[in-house]
This record gives sequence, structure tokens and C-alpha cells, in this order.
Amino acid sequence: MGARSQRVPERMCVACRRLRPRTELARLVRPTQATEIDLNLGGQASGKGFYICRSVECLTKLEKDKRLRKNFSAKLTAPALQWLTAERQRLEEEETQRTPASCSEEVKDL
Ligand SMILES: [Zn+2]
Repeated sequence: MGARSQRVPERMCVACRRLRPRTELARLVRPTQATEIDLNLGGQASGKGFYICRSVECLTKLEKDKRLRKNFSAKLTAPALQWLTAERQRLEEEETQRTPASCSEEVKDL
């Protein structure tokens, strides 16, 4: 879609360590001097930021894996954790709904 080839910078997901376009990742940040990681979905809050895929797999990993969080020597704030859980659930639902309801849909692009 669109002829513009605008480059999206790539960032590494902390859970799967894959590089992805920044737009596909959620940003979390540990503000300077804070001990808790907060969500920073839109902006450029200062502090140590990191990125996570908006995928069930990676969100679950961050949600459950305490060792992963230890890497940032911080823990997630309650809202950040809530967001993680909510976002994971939303994605899970999306995936369930995506199960083909009809066989008439053709694959247009290979
Ligand atoms: Zn990931």
C-alpha cells in the first residue's frame, strides 16, 4: 500500500531478541532513578527504554519471566503489568477469531 518507502527504524524485542520495525513493538521505559518499569507507548520518556513484540508469545514471556525483568533491574508497575496481560488477552482473542469462518476466501497474494 502506498508508494512511499519510509524507513522504520528497527529495535530489538527483549523477549525473543529479534529485530522488528519499531512500529510493531511496544515501548516500555524505566525512568531515570526509578526502580519500576512503566509503559511508554507513545512517547519518548527519558530513561532506559526497551521494546517488546506485540505478540502473545513475547508478552507472556515478559509477564511471567522474572529473570527477564531482572535484566533491567526493575520490576513492572502495576499498570504496565495490567497492560501486558490485557494486551496478551486481546491478541489471544484476535487469534481465535481469525480461525477461518468460511472456506470461500481466496488467497490473493502469495
Ligand atoms: Zn519478541
